Amino acid sequence: MNPSSRRDFLRKSAMLAAAAGLYPIAAKAENLFILPQNNFQLPPLPYAFDALEPWIDRETMRIHHNFHHNAYVANLNVAFAESHIDVPLKLEDLFQYISAASPKIRNNAGGHWNHVMFWEIMKPAGKKEPEGALLDAIKAQFNSFEEFKRKFAEIALGRFGSGWAWLVVNDRKRLNLFSLPNQDNPLMDVADQRGTPILCLDVWEHAYYLKYQYKRYEYVDAWWNVVNWDEVMKRYDEAMKS
Ligand code: MN
Repeated sequence: MNPSSRRDFLRKSAMLAAAAGLYPIAAKAENLFILPQNNFQLPPLPYAFDALEPWIDRETMRIHHNFHHNAYVANLNVAFAESHIDVPLKLEDLFQYISAASPKIRNNAGGHWNHVMFWEIMKPAGKKEPEGALLDAIKAQFNSFEEFKRKFAEIALGRFGSGWAWLVVNDRKRLNLFSLPNQDNPLMDVADQRGTPILCLDVWEHAYYLKYQYKRYEYVDAWWNVVNWDEVMKRYDEAMKS
């Protein structure tokens, strides 16, 4: 990106940030960006590769984290370096005007952020279902936890090709379920449905193919055994407060 188109990008970003009510970002648009020297790094998995066995196997987790997730991180650093757009302090801020960035930044920023969330909303031997305010909201909107799981699975199985299934708190503080393609997420201005994500499921083939092959339905079914409901409830409470 040459200096004048970089200025245009910054100006457009600042305008979009202002339009979105992100005044602190708009006010310091020129200071929002810092030098693109490998700013993003692969965080360690919060548990061992084999911790989610037998539901998600060690080899899938190792390859998924060390190679797929790592590639998004590496390519994100390259994408920022190539574009001469400096790196935003927080990806959550960038997502609100991601339409102004290149497809390479969009895909890899989403790829990095989504996987960090995915690792965090799983854990070995967690609760079988949520409790408290989140369980109440699920029952109020979906009749029962079982019905909610059925709908979520339907959305995960219905995503054609690669993408993610999402549970979000929308701007009316209601739960909403949908899927998005590729590495898009509900924080992005390009997403056709938006909200604050509290649960996500990776349905790219790389997430399950070693163990489940074409049987995405078996992967989705098994995955409920490793959901970290404590983390999802925490994210729900934060989204309801914000
Ligand atoms: Mn993945």
